[in-house]
Formats: sequence, structure tokens, C-alpha cells
Amino acid sequence: MQPGSLTPRGVIYTISCRKVAAGLRTLLFFLAAPLLAAEYKAGIAKIDITPKEPIYMSGYATRNHPSEGVTQHLFAKALAIEDGHGTRVVIVTTDLIGLPRAISDPVAAEAAKRWGIDRAHLMFNSSHTHTGPLLLHNLNLMFELSEAEAAAVERYTRQLSEDLITVVGGALQDLQPARVWLGNGAAHFAVNRRQFTPNGVKIGVNPQGPTDPDVPVLKVTAPDGRVRAVLAGYACHNTTLTGEFYQITGDYAGYAQAELEKAYPGATALFLQLCGGDQNPNPRSTMQLAEQHGAALAAEVKRVLDGRLAPVRGPIRAAFQIVDLGFAYHTRQQFEARLTEKNVWRVRHARAMLRTYDEGRPIRTYPYPVQALAFGKALTVLALGGEVVVDYDLRVKKEFGATGMIVAGYSNDVMAYIASKRVLKEGGYEADDSMIYYGQPGPWAEDVEERIFTTIHQVMKRVGRKG
Ligand SMILES: [Zn+2]
Repeated sequence: MQPGSLTPRGVIYTISCRKVAAGLRTLLFFLAAPLLAAEYKAGIAKIDITPKEPIYMSGYATRNHPSEGVTQHLFAKALAIEDGHGTRVVIVTTDLIGLPRAISDPVAAEAAKRWGIDRAHLMFNSSHTHTGPLLLHNLNLMFELSEAEAAAVERYTRQLSEDLITVVGGALQDLQPARVWLGNGAAHFAVNRRQFTPNGVKIGVNPQGPTDPDVPVLKVTAPDGRVRAVLAGYACHNTTLTGEFYQITGDYAGYAQAELEKAYPGATALFLQLCGGDQNPNPRSTMQLAEQHGAALAAEVKRVLDGRLAPVRGPIRAAFQIVDLGFAYHTRQQFEARLTEKNVWRVRHARAMLRTYDEGRPIRTYPYPVQALAFGKALTVLALGGEVVVDYDLRVKKEFGATGMIVAGYSNDVMAYIASKRVLKEGGYEADDSMIYYGQPGPWAEDVEERIFTTIHQVMKRVGRKG
């Protein structure tokens, strides 16, 4: 119908058109009202996962005895968010070196059984603290433990699995009306640690190397405005405290979370480790610096929380895919040749790899997890497994936009460093040597970055995030 016609008939049409339009507007209002009113619900839970006995600490191969005490408690925390259609996601953060799938998969299976949360809607992240306990199935060639030391690690890991199930359930039981907001800040204590020397790339300080200062901040409030949870991320190893420390702490992320929980009484602060695989805090090595970096991060998060935040709303969508990543070709002879070397780790690794050949199952590929969680058009959380170097985060932001984008590493499974094509070519710890401690046969195949990005594009498409 064309309104505004000069014929009498046309005038009638015009009037009826107006009536129809008004009626449609009323109808649309009533249809949309439940959607507009359908606020998110959020649930938060927190559980103390501090080791209860001396235990080997992970992250530094030079450590030679169990922990000597606790300076700061470690926590697993869960944030559940439900949209207006009843779709729920749970994000679990942990003050731990890195949850392997041998822990996260059974916990996810139990959560699916108990609460109907499928794998795609459950995300695990680890802060990568190097002053936390060693876990079973993670960095398993780093240490040779006595029977008693191994038993303590096993006891801890068993209890941890129970605690993770408890914390997921706790967050789901706590679901209540909430509003979610997103803001971004920046922190500057991370530095690219891949230092170029005449003898190759060493772990040091490389101020020219890529880094990402982004500090994404999620704020979860009650209908009365009270802050219930703060989730903040940063791409930087939790390695302010070096190998000579034998006290349990959460490093800078632990101090930042404690500081935020003090600043917002009753709120839970969660830390997400982003793509900090090749990023170290700078300077580092003292307790005072760990507290200082934590305070700097907390201050920035507080500044963001006090500023203008964008509302996060809309339907929640989730996708989780596994992609098989290949390793560079290896042979039995390569490992046999290493048996006479002096480096105890390389020899231990060669023996482990020869066992896989003996058993007829040399490791050729690894099932790598890629997950995306979308909250309407406001926010996408991409969760990548392993110790992801910052190149991935920068490329994701280039291809999909940085606004409303959080790229987390250390998620769902931590099985190795995830070098980019560039880092693989350059070599060094993240590309090569670190694979020894993780018990992987060697560097990833050259196509690792492309295979991961093909999968990233697939999960992004499934959750409706456009590039
Ligand atoms: Zn690391």
C-alpha cells in the first residue's frame, strides 16, 4: 500500500495504513517486551584449592623439593551466566599452572550429567601461576618424583577434580537476576620475553617484540547495582616469582584478585589468562614485585569499573571444536641419539618417546580444543587451549575486530606452548625446548597456526561472530 494518494480511496488507504502501523507497533512492543525485560541471570561460586600438605610446585624445572608453606591461598571460581532463553554458560577460572584435559574433560562430563551443561557451554581457564602445585598429566616430564611426592600430587589432583565439580554446581545454584557490563583497560608490566641473542632466541626481555596491553573487564551487578563479580584478563605469564620461591601463591593474578575482592566487599574477582605464552612480567623475581604488578592490574580494573561500560546482553551461543594438530616429523633414531646426552630432561624425554615407539603409538597429532562463547553482539570470548603466544590474540583481533573480543589462552586443556608460524620459524623455548617438559615429541608442524585459525573461523561462524 502506498499512503498519501490524492484519490479519496487513497486517503482511506492512508488512514488504514496508519492504523495498521500503530497496531503493529503495539504488537511489536508486546512481543519485544519479554526480550527486553529478560535480563541475564548470573551465579558465582568460589572454592579454596590451596594444597593442604607440602607438594611439588610446577612451572620451573629447577625446583628440587616440595612447597614450604602458603603465602596466599589459591582458588577455583565459577561464573555462570544464563540468558533470557535459559541458555547457560559457566566460566571456571583457577589459580593453577594449567588444567590438562585429563582433569577438565571428566569434570565437564560430570557437569553434563548433573546439570545438563554440555562441553561447549563450560570453559576452564588457568592463571598459569608458577607458585602453585604440580598437577597430574601436566608438564609430566619436568620432575622425577619419589613415591611419596607423587602420591601427594595424585591426592591433590583427585581433590581438585571434586572441587571443580562443586564450584560449577555452586555457580549454577546461585543463578539470580543480574546485569553484565564490559569495559577495557590496559596494563603495561608484560613484556615480550623472546630475546634474540647470537645463540638463538632465549627467555629474556624483548621490548620490541609483540605484546597486548588489553585488560578486558566484565562487571556483574545485582539489580540494585551491587557488584557481585569482576572478571578481568591479561596476557602475561604469572611468573613474577621465580624458581627459588617455595611458598604457594597466585603470583600477580592472585594479588590482583585479592585486592579487587577487598575493594568490592562481597564480590568475587576472577582472573582470565589470555594469550601470554611469550609474555613475562617485567621486572620480576621478588615478592614485592608480584604484589606491585597485582596492585597495578587491580587499580586498572577499578578504573575501568568506575568508567563507562557497555551493557552485555542478547542470546548466548557456544561452540566447541577439536582440531588435530600435527607435530614435526620425528623418528625413533632421533630419540635414540639423545640417550647419551648430558641434559637429564632431554634424556628423560627421549626415553619416554622411545616407549611410545616401543608400544607402537608414536605421538603424531594432538586433539586441540577451540571454543567460542558469544553474548549477543556485545561480547565474544574465544578460548584456546595451551600456552598461546600473543600473535594469535593480535591476529584474532585483526580478523574479527578488537571490540567486544576476549581471546583467552590456557583454556580447557594445557598440553604445550602454541607457537605461531613466526615463532616456530624463529625457534627458542616456546617453539621447541618447552615440548620436552610437556612430553610432546617435538615442535608443532608448520601448519599449526593455519589449522587453528581455520577452526577459529568455524567456531566464530557458529556463534555468529563476524569478521
Ligand atoms: Zn608457561
